[in-house]
Amino acid sequence: MSEIRVRFAPSPTGYLHVGGARSALFNYLFAKKNNGKFILRIEDTDQERSTHESLKMMVDDLNWLGLKWDEGVDPLTLKDMGPFAPYRQSERLSIYKQVADEILKNGKAYYCFMTDEEIDRQRAINQAEHSYAHIESPYAEWPLEKALTELKNGKSAVVRFKTKALKKDYILPDLIRGEVRFPSDMVGDFVLLRSDGMPVYNFCCVVDDHLMKISHVLRAEEHLPNTLRQMMIYESMKWPTPQFGHISLVLDDDRQKLSKRKGAVACDVFKDEGYLPEAMNNYLALLGWSHPEGKEIFELKEMEQLFSIDRLNSSGAVFDRVKLKWVNSQHLRALSSEDLWNLIQPHLQKAGLVLPQDQAWQLHSADVFRSKMEIASDAVALYTPLDETRFAIAGESTEVLTWPTTKVVLQTWKKLLVDFISEYLSEEDFVRFENEVKIQSQTKGKNLFMPMRVAVIGKPHGTELKILTPLIPVKALIARAEKVLSHVESL
Ligand code: GLU
Repeated sequence: MSEIRVRFAPSPTGYLHVGGARSALFNYLFAKKNNGKFILRIEDTDQERSTHESLKMMVDDLNWLGLKWDEGVDPLTLKDMGPFAPYRQSERLSIYKQVADEILKNGKAYYCFMTDEEIDRQRAINQAEHSYAHIESPYAEWPLEKALTELKNGKSAVVRFKTKALKKDYILPDLIRGEVRFPSDMVGDFVLLRSDGMPVYNFCCVVDDHLMKISHVLRAEEHLPNTLRQMMIYESMKWPTPQFGHISLVLDDDRQKLSKRKGAVACDVFKDEGYLPEAMNNYLALLGWSHPEGKEIFELKEMEQLFSIDRLNSSGAVFDRVKLKWVNSQHLRALSSEDLWNLIQPHLQKAGLVLPQDQAWQLHSADVFRSKMEIASDAVALYTPLDETRFAIAGESTEVLTWPTTKVVLQTWKKLLVDFISEYLSEEDFVRFENEVKIQSQTKGKNLFMPMRVAVIGKPHGTELKILTPLIPVKALIARAEKVLSHVESL
C-alpha cells in the first residue's frame, strides 16, 4: 500500500476555530496511526482576507496543541519545509496556470468572456423561467485559438470548467458518511481561474492534493458539496482521486453550527484562559470519535495508537463547554506540582498578585488548590485571598462584626496566633485553634465560623479556612486579625 499522506489546509483569514483544530487533530492522528505524513498546507489565495498574523496565530495554536506536522511551513520561521514546496498556495500560482492550460487544451474548460452584468442578467432570467441558476456561456464551444486571440487583444476572461457533457451521477465512497451520490447537474460550468489569474479553492485544492500525493482527505462536512466539483476536475486530468472522509459538524447546544455568540470558539481563547493542550485534544477527539473502551480521559499518545476512521461518527457533535472544563480538570489533576505551578503562575502574574517567592510554598499551594481548579485561570480567585496587599474588610462583613460574641472570637484567635512559634500553621494546627476558639469564646456555628473567616479573608464567605490559613504566614494572619479587631472597635 502506498504511503498515507494527509493534510490540514487552513485559510489564514482569522483564528484557528475549534472545528479546524479538530480536523487537524484527526488528520494528525490518522497519519500517526498509519506511519504516514501530516502536511500543513496554507490556502491563502484569498489575498484580501489572508494575513500573516492569522497564519502565525494558526501555526502557534497547532504547535500549542502539539500536532506536529512533517511538511508545510516551518513552525518557527514559516519558511517552506518538505519536498513538495511551496506549501503556500499564493506561491503556486504558476502551477495552477499550467494545469488550467492543460484542461483548456483538452477541451474540458474554456475561456468565458461574459461580463458580470451579463451573468447577473442571465441568472435572473434562468431563475424566473427555469428555476435554476446555472450559467449558459456563449463561449463554451469557442475554439481555444479564438479565445486566445481575444485575450491577446486585451479582453479579460475567467477559465470555466465544462459540466454539460458530464451527464451522470458521481459516486463518492465517503469514509465516514458512506456512499454519497451527486448528480452532475447539481453544478453548472464553474470557474477554475478568475480573470486576474487567481485560482478558486476547488481547483487549487485538487491540484495540490494530487501533486502533494495526498492519499486521504479528512475535512469538515461543509466541504462535502465541493467534492463534486473536485471529482470532476480529477476526472478531467485522469488523476486518481484520494479517499475522502467528511467529518461531522461541530454544533452548539441548540444544534446550530457552532457560533461565537454562545462562547469562545477560537483555540487561542482557550489557550489564554488556561486550558491544557492535552485536554483540548482529548475533548476535541470526543467530538465525533470514541475510544474503543469507552474511556473519556486519554492522552494524545494513546489516541495516536488507537485512532481509526471507522470510529468517527457521521452525526453532528455538540460542543459542550461544561464537559470541556471537566475534561480539563481531569488533566489538571494529573500534572506534577511543578507543572501545575508553571501553568497557573502566568495567570497569577497577569492578575498582579503579590505572593511568596519560595518554591516550597508555591508547589504546596498548587497541590492544595489543585482539586479546586478546573482551568488554570481559576487560580486567580483562589490565590487572591493570599495576597497581603489585597486584604480588605468587605462591606458584607459589617453585620458579623456587630454580633456581641464576635470580639471575643477575634481576640482568642489572635492570642493563639501570637503565642504560636512556627512561621505557618498546619491544617491540624488550624483545626486545633478553631476548637480552642470555640471553647474559649463559647460560640459555635456561624457565630464562630463567620468572624474567623472575616479575620482571615475580610469576608464571611469563601474557601475553607483549613485550606487557606496554612498558606498565609502567621505574622500576616495576626496583622489581619488586628485590622479586623480595630475595625470592630470603631463600629
Ligand atoms: N481551506 C479550506 C478550509 O479552510 C480547506 C478545505 C479542505 O480541507 O479541502 O476550509
